[in-house]
Amino acid sequence: MRILHSRGLINVRGGNGSVKISSREFLMTPSGLPKHILKPDDLVVVRLDGTWTGRYKPTIEYRLHLEIYRRVSSAQAILHSHNPYTILALRIGLKLDPSELVETKYAIGECIGVVEELEPGSLELAKRVGEEAEKCRVVVLENHGVVAYGETVYHALDAIEALEDYAKIKITEHLVAKKSK
Ligand SMILES: [Zn+2]
Repeated sequence: MRILHSRGLINVRGGNGSVKISSREFLMTPSGLPKHILKPDDLVVVRLDGTWTGRYKPTIEYRLHLEIYRRVSSAQAILHSHNPYTILALRIGLKLDPSELVETKYAIGECIGVVEELEPGSLELAKRVGEEAEKCRVVVLENHGVVAYGETVYHALDAIEALEDYAKIKITEHLVAKKSK
C-alpha cells in the first residue's frame, strides 16, 4: 500500500489489498485507516464464507476480493488502486492491449478486463469483477480504478504499475499523433 501511495496510484484512504494466508482465509486492509501507515495489527482476517475477525472492519470492497478468491484458485494476493492515467485512457476511448509492449505482456498477460461504472462496495460490482477476473489477471473499473491479482502481492503490484506506465505511453502517443495531424 505504501508503494501504491508513493507512486500516486492511491490517495491515503483509497484502494485496498489482501493476501491469502490459508485455503480458507486472507488478510485484508481495514476500512477507513490511512493506507500508507498501516501496521500488521490493523489488518483484518476475512474467511471465504464472508465472516471476519480483527480490530477494524475490512475495506468496503471486501466482497470483490472474496469473489475473486472464490472463482480464481491462482489468485494468492489482490490489490485495488485508483490509477489516474489508466482511468483517463479509458475515458478518452483508448484501447488497452497488453500485447503491445514487452513489459505489459510480461507483467499483465494476455488481456485486460473492463467493468462498467458500478457502485463501490456493491455486490453487483464484486460479481462483475469476479467474472472478468476469471478471464484476465487485471481488470479496469471504468471511472474508478484497477483490480489485479497474482501469485504474490508483488506480482499484483507489478501488473498495476506496468498498466499505469502503459496508459501514460498510450495517452502521450495519442496526443502526439493528434498534434502532428
Ligand atoms: Zn476504489
